[in-house]
Amino acid sequence: MYTEFKNEKLTDFSQEANRSAQLEALKLVRSRLGREYDLIIGGKRVKSRKRFNSINPADRSEIIGTFQGASAERAAEAVDAATRAFGEWRRFSAEHRADLLFRVAELLRGRRFEMNAWMMLEAGKPWGEADADTAEAIDFCEFYAREALRYAEPQPLVPLPGETNELRYLPLGAGAVIAPWNFPCAITLGMTAAAFVAGNTVVLKPSSDAPAVAALLMEILEEAGVPPGVVNFVTGSGGEAGEGVVKCARTRFVAFTGSKETGLHIVEEAARPRPGQVWIKRVIAEMGGKDFIIVDEDADLDDALDGVVSSAFGYQGQKCSACSRLILHEKVYADFVERLVERTARIRVGPASDPASGMGPVINEGALHRILKYVETGKREGKLVTGGSALEGNGFFMQPTVIIDVKPTATVAREEIFGPVLAVIRAGSFDEAVAIANDSEYGLTGAVYGTNQGRLERAKTECHVGNLYLNRKCTGAMVGVHPFGGFNMSGTNSKAGGRDYLMHFTQAKVISEKTFVSG
Ligand code: NAD
Repeated sequence: MYTEFKNEKLTDFSQEANRSAQLEALKLVRSRLGREYDLIIGGKRVKSRKRFNSINPADRSEIIGTFQGASAERAAEAVDAATRAFGEWRRFSAEHRADLLFRVAELLRGRRFEMNAWMMLEAGKPWGEADADTAEAIDFCEFYAREALRYAEPQPLVPLPGETNELRYLPLGAGAVIAPWNFPCAITLGMTAAAFVAGNTVVLKPSSDAPAVAALLMEILEEAGVPPGVVNFVTGSGGEAGEGVVKCARTRFVAFTGSKETGLHIVEEAARPRPGQVWIKRVIAEMGGKDFIIVDEDADLDDALDGVVSSAFGYQGQKCSACSRLILHEKVYADFVERLVERTARIRVGPASDPASGMGPVINEGALHRILKYVETGKREGKLVTGGSALEGNGFFMQPTVIIDVKPTATVAREEIFGPVLAVIRAGSFDEAVAIANDSEYGLTGAVYGTNQGRLERAKTECHVGNLYLNRKCTGAMVGVHPFGGFNMSGTNSKAGGRDYLMHFTQAKVISEKTFVSG
């Protein structure tokens, strides 16, 4: 018997012991920077001809590690290794697989500060954000391990006299896990764990902006005793390594989290059968967002301000759930904007490893340029009231930025910017605010602040998003509590961290046996 699932507590960094443990871990990780990492295929370390460096976005001269750039052929070799391993792994009992995942959770708990430190240095995650990422990863393991046991239980069917009927959830086979950089621990491990605890084998292709975090995850999986070939590690560009796995005929499924553009491309490539392929590839694709917060005329503005600032600028606005459209009722518009500008301008930007930084760097140079370009567009489409520039230095630092008087049809109100840029839109009424919120190709998260219960009830039915929050911020979904995944171009709505999630990694077999009544 296992205890009931409980979310992992966040670390309280106001306690001296925790602060010094985190500083020690940063020192340890800094002493390990600059190493070379190999691909891991069928448990063997493999090199490739190409190499690339992962760097610290707060200081481009600091090399986090050197990684192999796998070719499409190497990626296909990894699928072959995963296919071979599947033969045995599928026969492991659900209890055995779940026990391994519980062990992974335990090991990660033991290396929590170290994992946080890698994320601070490689992905620019400030202390609290990095710690929440590790906590979520532990939650995914604990939650999916229990779910695997639940899926292995006898499933309820309508009884039929004269027959015994049984439904079993079987794994799919060898699949790809293609991860983004923004939750390099939680999402990477979450997708991987769900896949393998359900009995599948995996080729893990992490983002090239956060491969060292994934390498530490691999170390933990190996230490936990996950057998060789069950999770293979293939680094490299999306176009070569990622696409190599997606296109391979032996790939049975693709679990992807990333941008809309890549997700749609993967859906298209996976749909095309390759010679020798005998199945339709299953694609789980969780993609971008253009998430909103509505502040109604009767909202508690202090609460709303906290929620907006945290949702828009937490982790530099680089969350799929980040608030990038603030829709203000015209009656609170001027007052709220004034307070928002004052609060935003006070956010301290600096290296994520410095606990005093409220915001760290954005992920890479390309992202910085893209964000600055959006700011230029935003200046034409509205009025820049704070921020708008990159900061001096050797890192990719960007000021938190607010653009007001933006029309709902403006580019900065429609496209995912994925940085610390908030577009503020005026609404004449609550109904208009909801209409603006829904006028998007995305449908991931949204929040409504207000005290009119009738309007909140209407928001529940009318706001078309996968995760709707009332009187709280639109980020920070918790495993088991807020199963996560969006509508429309935000993806396949697989609801990570929910009871349906493992279903996507299985296929159901029904066995019906005629029972003979003797005499
Ligand atoms: P991305 O699409 O650039 O990359 C994601 C992964 O796909 C990387 O590992 C990349 O190497 C790989 N890839 C790129 N091209 C590929 C190809 N042709 N074939 C196969 N793989 C390929 O996204 P990103 O910049 O890493 O992540 C940010 C995006 O992820 C944002 O749009 C964000 O909203 C989204 N996101 C969504 C969720 C969600 O749950 N909906 C969660 C986190 C992030």
